[in-house]
Amino acid sequence: MTGYRPPLADMRFVLEHVVDVAALADLEGFAHADPETVMSLLEESGRFFAEQFAPLNRSGDLEHSRRNDDGSVSTPEGFPKAYARYVEAGWPAVPFPAEYGGGGFPWLVGVAMQETLTAANMGLSLCPLLTQGAIDMLLHHGSEEQRETYVTKMVAGQWTGTMNLTEPQAGSDVGALTTKAIPAGDGTWRITGQKIFITYGEHDLTENIVHLVLARVPDAPPGTKGISCFIVPKFLVDEQGRPGPRNALSCVSIEHKMGINASPTCVMAYEDAVGYLVGEPNEGMRYMFTMMNTARLSVGLEGLAIGERAYQAAVAYAAERRQGRAPGATGDSAIVEHADVRRMLLTMKAHIEALRGLVYLNAESIDLAQHAADEGVRQARSELADLLTPISKGWGTDVGCALASVAVQVHGGMGYIEEAGVAQHYRDIRIAPIYEGTNGIQAIDLVGRKLPMRGGAVIRAYIDGIEATAAAATAAGGDLVALGAALTAAVGPLREATTWLVTTGREHPNNALAGATPYLEMLGIVTGGWLLTRAALAAARLAEGDGDGFDDDFLAQKLVTARFYATQLLPRAAGLRPAVTAGPADLFAAAF
Ligand SMILES: Cc1cc2nc3c(=O)[nH]c(=O)nc-3n(C[C@H](O)[C@H](O)[C@H](O)COP(=O)(O)OP(=O)(O)OC[C@H]3O[C@@H](n4cnc5c(N)ncnc54)[C@H](O)[C@@H]3O)c2cc1C
Repeated sequence: MTGYRPPLADMRFVLEHVVDVAALADLEGFAHADPETVMSLLEESGRFFAEQFAPLNRSGDLEHSRRNDDGSVSTPEGFPKAYARYVEAGWPAVPFPAEYGGGGFPWLVGVAMQETLTAANMGLSLCPLLTQGAIDMLLHHGSEEQRETYVTKMVAGQWTGTMNLTEPQAGSDVGALTTKAIPAGDGTWRITGQKIFITYGEHDLTENIVHLVLARVPDAPPGTKGISCFIVPKFLVDEQGRPGPRNALSCVSIEHKMGINASPTCVMAYEDAVGYLVGEPNEGMRYMFTMMNTARLSVGLEGLAIGERAYQAAVAYAAERRQGRAPGATGDSAIVEHADVRRMLLTMKAHIEALRGLVYLNAESIDLAQHAADEGVRQARSELADLLTPISKGWGTDVGCALASVAVQVHGGMGYIEEAGVAQHYRDIRIAPIYEGTNGIQAIDLVGRKLPMRGGAVIRAYIDGIEATAAAATAAGGDLVALGAALTAAVGPLREATTWLVTTGREHPNNALAGATPYLEMLGIVTGGWLLTRAALAAARLAEGDGDGFDDDFLAQKLVTARFYATQLLPRAAGLRPAVTAGPADLFAAAF
């Protein structure tokens, strides 16, 4: 099955009952974003992506983007037209401020929309994703003139943006970059260097491309302290704001990749290209950090989106494919009747619902961190967004890969055959744990920067919150008691592992570094259990009330999913505790 159906009911359930999209409409500037408007926007955009982008997913994978002899890059057949329709419909503008032509919707709404965009066509979705990162950076740090010139066009989708960090010797270690920026004496700069792996560095979707390039000015301090950020447009912009002369930059080749083949991954050469400094010199890394939460969340979301797409394919295949006889059946059975296939499908479903809760909560926290009226709320949500971001990115993308693999397994041998389509999801999502900071770097960020926030008080409060949900489930009685017990059982080892990391990590950083990845997974699994318990509590409340438009079956299914996760997936978190606290001795005793 290659189609895609936006899971609107599941999305609405999380938006309205696990997080609180309605409360965002009370914030200044968001009054128009009431839940009804939000849902009709998501319905319409979801339909658009399913109809216009999803059919190009497989053909784009087969055709690839290609570089032509003149250095131009052609995206696969149908992409320019589909992108033009996307622009015409106004979808790129949804989560950006009205003063730059945006729709002025909360980030949460943009993220929910992005879920359907990415699920429909990950290769194509990367162009808006990178553009969004560039917009975010310029909204925070660009001058008013830069925002007028570039942001307005990017918000409209007329121009796209790129992020140029990586160089051959500077990947995770961005501070090792050597691209140079020399002042031209007229306020502009000349940029020279080579960047690799630049997503949509060149393409035929728009008339201009706004490259954000990290480079070093003369006498810059070494490492990350000496990085500056420049706008380097493909075409210099004339006085009327239109693309003028061609800038001295080019795409010298594009990569042949494992997945996301529709998306051009470019080697970019800058040879005395005209650049405009963003903000102050040597502050580029700090600026990058401002947009990191949103960019990393967008990549975490890919795990959710591709997980959902692969799940839909697996469910359809399992209903169709007949093999063997399930106990009690009289003839051959659809494979969905077999317990082990049901286990695979439910493993996917439960993880997807946990990830949707996580990603949406992370996005809601970004909104409240920026727009809540109360300073205490802003502070608390800013810390929560900081804490959740490496979990969304790291756990979200690891789970996304695992789910795509399960979907291949559900398809049996056909899963391994490209024609079935699910192999593409497996290949596509594999990049997500690598780019935008590898998941190893996310784990280091979690234990090195996030756990120490306010001397460990932030993570302690977070775990207290999980415990409070466990207590609420226990108090609710009935089926929810088991969920409360499972969550309580998971919290104990999590607390121990956290305390160990926070205390020994201070004096022995290698302890924390050695346990970082298992800890990120542990925290991800428990966070998933927490959010599914919240979902189950909400479903139970709705079932007792008027249901808010969700039928009894839908609500009952939320409980089934949460119970499966609590009994079969959540207990795995405790098993990770020894790995978190083992320390580095064996890692460094091993010979390679
Ligand atoms: C398809 C694709 C698209 C991309 N798009 C962009 C883009 O648009 N713009 C852009 O600038 N870049 C882009 N990248 C680059 C991407 O962000 C980098 O590949 C990524 O940051 C990892 O860097 P690296 O490849 O040099 O790996 P390395 O840094 O060499 O890492 C190799 C391994 O070592 C580990 N490692 C490295 N340092 C440490 C450390 N200090 N502690 C522990 N472990 C460590 C890593 O986790 C990883 O497992 C893209 C890459 C690809 C493949």
